[in-house]
Amino acid sequence: MSLSAALNKVFFGEIVKGLGLTFKHLFEKSITQQYPHTKPMLPDGYRGIMSLLKYDDGTERCVGCALCEIACPSNVIKVVSAEEPGRPLNRYAKTYTFDVTRCVFCGFCVDACPVDALAMTKEYEWASENKRTLFLDKDQLLAIGDRNFPLRGKKPEYRGSIEGDWYLTAVKAKAYPKQAEKP
Ligand code: SF4
Ligand code: SF4
Repeated sequence: MSLSAALNKVFFGEIVKGLGLTFKHLFEKSITQQYPHTKPMLPDGYRGIMSLLKYDDGTERCVGCALCEIACPSNVIKVVSAEEPGRPLNRYAKTYTFDVTRCVFCGFCVDACPVDALAMTKEYEWASENKRTLFLDKDQLLAIGDRNFPLRGKKPEYRGSIEGDWYLTAVKAKAYPKQAEKP
C-alpha cells in the first residue's frame, strides 16, 4: 500500500471528501419545483405508463404472440390471442390486459416485442385511490399510444397479410400440407 493510500485510510479521506461535498451544497440556493403547477423536465429515457401502438393505416401492431407476457418479471401483462377471421396465418390480441400496480417500468416487455407494438410514454400522473382504474385493457392502452405517438410507422407488406394470400391460394390448390388428424 502506498503512503498516500495509507494516510487516506488513517484520516478517513473518503469520508472527509464526502462531507466536504455535502457542506458545499448547504450554502447553495435551494430550488423548489412548484409541482403540479410547473411540470418537471423529463429525460429522454424516462419510462412512464405503457402504451400499445398502431400502424399508419390504423391497424394494431400487436400480433398476440405473448412474448411480452413471458418477458415480464412481475406478471403485469395477460394476452389472449386469436386467429384473424379468414386469415389463417394472422393473429391478433383478442384481449390484452395490463395491471399498472404491478409494473416496475423495467422495459423488458418493450424489448421482447418483435413488432414494436409496445412503447413506454412519459405519462406519470396516474396516482389513484381506486386500484381498479389501474387495470387497463387493450382499448385503453391503444388510446394512450394514440395520444402519445400520433406519428405512426408504416405497415410492412408481409406475404400473407392481405386477403387471398399465398396460404389460402396454396390451401385451395391443395399444395399446403394439412395437419395430421388427431386420433
Ligand atoms: S415494464 Fe417491466 S414490469 Fe412493466 S410490464 Fe413491462 S416487463 Fe413487466
Ligand atoms: S405487444 Fe408485442 S410481444 Fe406483446 S403480444 Fe403483442 S406483439 Fe407480442
